[in-house]
Amino acid sequence: MKWMDAGLRMVIGLWGAFLICGCQSSSRLPRADMLYEDSSLESLLPAVQHHVGGRSVMNRLIMYQTLGNGADCILIIASIHGSEPAGTPLVRSLSQYLQERPYLLKGKTVVIVPVANPDGRAHRNRHNARGVDLNRNFAANNRVNSGTHGMSGQSEPEAGLIARLIKTHRPNRIVTLHQPLNCVDYDGPAYDLAKRMADACDLPLKKLGSRPGSLGAYAGETLGIPIVTFEMLKRDSALSEDQLWSRYGKAMMVAVNY
Ligand SMILES: [Zn+2]
Repeated sequence: MKWMDAGLRMVIGLWGAFLICGCQSSSRLPRADMLYEDSSLESLLPAVQHHVGGRSVMNRLIMYQTLGNGADCILIIASIHGSEPAGTPLVRSLSQYLQERPYLLKGKTVVIVPVANPDGRAHRNRHNARGVDLNRNFAANNRVNSGTHGMSGQSEPEAGLIARLIKTHRPNRIVTLHQPLNCVDYDGPAYDLAKRMADACDLPLKKLGSRPGSLGAYAGETLGIPIVTFEMLKRDSALSEDQLWSRYGKAMMVAVNY
């Protein structure tokens, strides 16, 4: 019965190989869930990743960056109105602060769009290059089509990019930075977040109401994502990056840590 011996030897051999390989793989590779908990491995990831999100009407690049890779995601958008520039240096400070303290990013993904309206910003213009107010261009339930709002939801590439980021990243909350209305406004289920952010700076909490087709109306009311519209002062445009950070950095970190 030599064939039986040979067959038996083959089965035992295969089983042994399986056991050895199995033991080796389990002893050398961490489990998938451990990979995400292992801070030594997380530290190998770059603290910040830069992405090209798309291009504006005038073909300018729209960049965004992601920090961390955790499940709790926050989206922060600056300069969607080109004539309200203070948000851009403020988010630059925020990004720098987080890059220097990567432990603050544990469990979090922070997505930052530093200049959402690059054409408007280049010309200090509220609108984009086609004269559309991007903060009226979203497919919110209350949108009104017009020349300055655009003839359909996300007709403009700049608004389209933000809508795509929301769809891709499914943020747990959004902060959008504006001037000059001097308040912390909110839409959707964001009262508590807005209150805490207002408590961390000099801007008062105020409910302005959802403007038609605004990002607040779209994300907050239509999609149900908590969104804060952080309205700084007109004179904040003259502040340095450090001055902006000392005035509003705490409120930004409240939003990240929330
Ligand atoms: Zn604005």
